[in-house]
Amino acid sequence: MDNCIFCKIIAGEIPSNKVYEDENMLAFRDINPQAKVHVLVVPKSHFATLAEMNGEQAELVKKCMEKIPHIAKSLGLEKGYRLIVNQGEDAGQTVHHLHIHILGGQSMGEKML
Ligand code: 5GP
Ligand code: ZN
Repeated sequence: MDNCIFCKIIAGEIPSNKVYEDENMLAFRDINPQAKVHVLVVPKSHFATLAEMNGEQAELVKKCMEKIPHIAKSLGLEKGYRLIVNQGEDAGQTVHHLHIHILGGQSMGEKML
């Protein structure tokens, strides 16, 4: 998609600090980390929210979810981590390409949820 920052990162047009990549997804460190470890897992197909996802894209999200424990382990998050998937305006979604936040590397106890 034109003008989508995550599509540009996937295409290599914008640099990112990659932690994992395969044919289905890219995982890279958030530019504005909200925890000691903050990584975004992005399926390699452009859609904004779960409501707009087609069947093929749902398969990509499934693959992301299956891979996240391995990515988390590689990041040293053996003690746990939080996943967040913002959906739309009230959730504060700012990049309209579905992505899963992995937050960890510290106790998350004082934050929401
Ligand atoms: P959202 O608020 O849409 O759930 O999350 C978007 C996230 O993308 C934010 O945490 C923001 O810091 C991150 N982000 C936005 N632009 C870039 C970028 O160019 N590079 C990286 N690595 N992260 C970005
Ligand atoms: Zn995109």
